This record gives sequence, C-alpha cells and structure tokens, in this order.
Amino acid sequence: MLDNKRIRIAMQKSGRLSDDSRELLSRCGIKINLQQQRLIAFAENMPIDILRVRDDDIPGLVMDGVVDLGIIGENVLEEELLTRQAQGENAGYTTLRRLDFGGCRLSLAMPADAGYTGPECLDNKRIATSYPHLLKRYFDSKNLSFKPCMLNGSVEVAPRAGLADAICDLVSTGATLEANGLREVDVIYRSKAVLIQREGEMPEEKQYLIDKLLTRIQGVIKARESKYIMLHAPSERLEEVIALMPGAERPTVLPLAGDQARVAMHMVSSETLFWETMEKLKSLGASSILVLPIEKMME
Ligand code: ATP
Ligand code: MG
Repeated sequence: MLDNKRIRIAMQKSGRLSDDSRELLSRCGIKINLQQQRLIAFAENMPIDILRVRDDDIPGLVMDGVVDLGIIGENVLEEELLTRQAQGENAGYTTLRRLDFGGCRLSLAMPADAGYTGPECLDNKRIATSYPHLLKRYFDSKNLSFKPCMLNGSVEVAPRAGLADAICDLVSTGATLEANGLREVDVIYRSKAVLIQREGEMPEEKQYLIDKLLTRIQGVIKARESKYIMLHAPSERLEEVIALMPGAERPTVLPLAGDQARVAMHMVSSETLFWETMEKLKSLGASSILVLPIEKMME
C-alpha cells in the first residue's frame, strides 16, 4: 500500500527521458536505487516514491491525481490534454517548470522528392502520426484538413509502405527522416521535458517538500547553464574585460602577489565562454583564463 504522506513522482522507465530525469532527481539530492526492475522505487533519504512507467501514462497519472508530480515531454502532455478535452474528461495539471532536456520538435515530413509549397499542399492528404490532436490543431489553425493514419511506432516508414502521403513525427537531428528518404517540411510544435503537478489539495508538508524540490531543480538547471570563470587581467583594462564577459555579474577582483599592474578576476557567468571571446580577452592582455563547471547553485 502506498503511503499518502510521501510524494509520488512519475517518470519514464526507459527511453529518451529516463536518464535525464533520474540524473535531475539525483542531483537534487534524492537517493534512489533504480537498479531493480521495479515499478516503484523509494527514496532512502526523503519521503519520495518514484513510479517508473511508460511516458504515455504520465500525463494521465498526474491528471487523475494518482501521482503528485510527473516528468514528461510537452508533446505527450499536450496530446493527452487535447485528447481528454475532446472527450470531456478531466485534464487539470500545473506546470511547475520547463526542464533543460528532452528537446525535440514535432514536424511534418514528406518523401524527399515530393514538392512542398506549404501546408496547403497537404490538404485532405493522409498523414501518419502518433499525435493526431496536435496535428489537427495545427491543420485547424490553417483551415485545412487531413486524413489521420494513427501509428504508435515506425511512423517514418508509412509513406514508403504506401500507408500515408506524409508523416508528422518527432525530430531532433533529422537523421531518422533522412535514413527513410523523408524531408522535414514544417515544424508544428516545439517540445521540452516539463515537471508537472497534479491539481487539488496538497497537505502542507508535502507542498513544502515540493517547493524545496523545485528550488533545488532551479539550482541544478542554473548551475548547468552557468560557468565559473577565473582570469588574470591588466588593472587598467578591467572595464573592457568585464564588457566581454557574457552574462557575468560584477566580478570579484583580487590582488596578485608581487604584481601591481595585474589583478585576478573571478565571476559566475550565465553562459559558457566561447573560444572567440577567450581570444579577445587574451588580446586585451588577459591570461590564465579558466572556465569551470559549477555543480550546485542557490541564489
Ligand atoms: P515509452 O516506452 O516510455 O512509451 P517512447 O518510445 O514513447 O517510450 P521515447 O522515444 O523514449 O518514447 O521518447 C520520449 C520523449 O523524449 C518524447 O516524447 C519526446 O518528448 C522526447 N524526445 C526528445 N528527442 C526525441 C527524438 N529525437 N525523438 C523522439 N522523442 C524525443
Ligand atoms: Mg511512449
């Protein structure tokens, strides 16, 4: 029997979101042993249970209030939302945060040799997809229609197999499309993984822990986006050096032992430092430039 005092988080068991979801929770300090092939894993150091399921089931588990939180791709979430809305079912949830992984786009693709002049040329055509509602929303917005061919996998082989004229599928690099002789012609939706929470009452202590988890997630993502930069620079060119630093706060300036003309600078930058910027810094007289990853951050 599941303990209702513990937070239940649904995440993908195995697939493109599972490693990043697991890594995010572990960076937030949640100790879970996910080695075993179990549906449910219990955190050792916090009142948190992890439900490991197919990604398609995650939005429904959150919308039905079976779990408190879910980590899911917006594409799957939005499709479930539209499906439930069309059926008049409950589709409530709150997005707590967009995450920094799982990026992909839902695109229309056609055989590479088919001419594409715009979505109008797909009017009334048969399109294979696992996302019929997202596709319909797009076609409705253009006042066009299509015949859906619902496939839950291997969508990219549909045109070759004579099942459809075009496909609407997820793309990240485009390599799968290319390998199947298809060309991406239009992007209809851009997706990332998100953390969502169920609607309805949440006991105070559970909400407190969710808020704490969210603060840690912000910290993990911010740290991943940021760099710690150290360098030595000529004192009289300090302002020029600072002007080159991307997204840096005011740096810490420290004296260098035995060198009056130069100082050490330390700063947190919200972006990495590209080679081009490092070269410009060097031409201003900067040296010993170090760019370090940051493990954790709390502001
Ligand atoms: P499951 O067995 O859990 O149902 P799945 O096969 O439906 O898994 P995956 O291929 O693991 O799903 O993809 C999960 C999610 O990862 C997608 O819904 C999407 O949000 C995201 N994603 C990121 N890049 C891609 C990509 N190139 N192709 C497909 N999905 C991607
Ligand atoms: Mg799936």
